[in-house]
Amino acid sequence: MKNYISSLGGTEPVDFETAVLNGKAPDGGLYVPTQLPQVNQSQLDSWRALSYSELACKVLALFIDEETVPSHDLAKLVNSSFSAFSHPETIPHRSLGNGLVVQELFHGPTLSFKDVAMGFVVNLFDYFLERKGEHKTLMVATSGDTGPAAAYASIGKSSISTWVFFPEGMITQQQIRQMTTLMAPNVHPVSIAGCRNGSDDLDELITGCFQDETFREEMCLSSVNSINWARVMTQVIHYFYGYLRNTNRTGDPVHFAVPCGAFGNMCAGAIARRMGLPIDKLIVAGNANTTLGTVIETGEFNKKDILNTLASAIDIAVPMNFWRHIYFSLAGDTAQVRDAFEQYESMNTVSFSPEQHACFSKGFTQHSITDSQILSTIKTTWNDDHYLLDPHGAVAVAAAQNHLKSPSTPPIICLATAHPAKFPETTLVALGKMPQEGKHHSLEEAMQACERKYSCHYDVMGSEVRSSMRAMVQVTKDEPKK
Ligand SMILES: *Cc1c(COP(=O)(O)O)cnc(C)c1O
Repeated sequence: MKNYISSLGGTEPVDFETAVLNGKAPDGGLYVPTQLPQVNQSQLDSWRALSYSELACKVLALFIDEETVPSHDLAKLVNSSFSAFSHPETIPHRSLGNGLVVQELFHGPTLSFKDVAMGFVVNLFDYFLERKGEHKTLMVATSGDTGPAAAYASIGKSSISTWVFFPEGMITQQQIRQMTTLMAPNVHPVSIAGCRNGSDDLDELITGCFQDETFREEMCLSSVNSINWARVMTQVIHYFYGYLRNTNRTGDPVHFAVPCGAFGNMCAGAIARRMGLPIDKLIVAGNANTTLGTVIETGEFNKKDILNTLASAIDIAVPMNFWRHIYFSLAGDTAQVRDAFEQYESMNTVSFSPEQHACFSKGFTQHSITDSQILSTIKTTWNDDHYLLDPHGAVAVAAAQNHLKSPSTPPIICLATAHPAKFPETTLVALGKMPQEGKHHSLEEAMQACERKYSCHYDVMGSEVRSSMRAMVQVTKDEPKK
């Protein structure tokens, strides 16, 4: 059996289905597999010719039992999830000069990397819930891209009601409209004004709702935020795909540069490397919010108020998936993980020991990129390569360029996590004009469409959000059954 336990060690092993539907482990930890599958060189060689979806089936089957999701069902779920991508290669690559490769993770329906895992995970929820005859309410906080991806993926799924919460004024109008113009009866966008720490404040709201046992049971709450194991697991695939597409020989090293927010994407890269993928360096690319850079560099992990940057999707104070990475780095020593986690939760800071720091920073390097570097990277990449980066892709490319010391460095695959059309104001500032590449028809349409949303202020959101959600459940229950 492929089982899952909590990173804090306080739960009995559960199967994949339970880990996915629970979202967070009951002891407050994150679900992790009891054993990471290993992939050898001949397996990797045999995967070279596979399409993205075919490769996805191979990688996912390493984590999911045949009894939980039979392989023909898995293939169906994978195909229906990734057929929503507009590019024939699903996740294409594009070479820039200097040995830099851009991996385009933004060809999904809501134009960000969040679609890569969200479509599949929401389909998986629906599959399990339909089979059990159950219904769940998803609460989703967003720093801009998770909300649209979750909202879109939930359309037409009668087993799920999805509430997406976004911090007013801290994400772009394009991102807001992706949520507010959907008109799906089971999708409820909520704008929260007065957030100080963006999506981290909204995470607190959700944590509060989960801790309210009556409310949690009444609403059958669950979460598809990146604390959900299935999100991280699905993000492992694009590291394998990027590796196989950009090397000629298995064993050749590559680096990956990853714009990091909650560390889910990077945690997946570290897992791929632990599974045997020959990744050399993982480059933590950050913006002016340097929490992750600091902990990689010094071993000090602090909660700090966020700064608003141009790469707003990674303006995150509490990178929850870092704890999953700690768990694997400390070889599953849950007592050590729990000690550090409890200290972090109560003191807002923890100093890892030199031994611990050595374990979790091995094979990593970090670069923090300022807003003005984001702008200049967008401009020079446009001028030199006629390629338009979004602010997050620019963070990755700028970090890779900082890392690039000589032409003999292994190729660096830079993860471009959003379509530039989601951040038009930044394009305008960087280039002084709006090229065709900076637009997308779906967003132009959304900017014209009618909106439907709830609005609420941070100070009262705890009570007001709960009563709105309760009222809506009542409406749904009162509707005559078809
Ligand atoms: C979510 C997001 C990231 C960061 O991913 P994490 O898994 O949270 O580290 C980077 N770029 C964009 C555009 C995103 O939406």
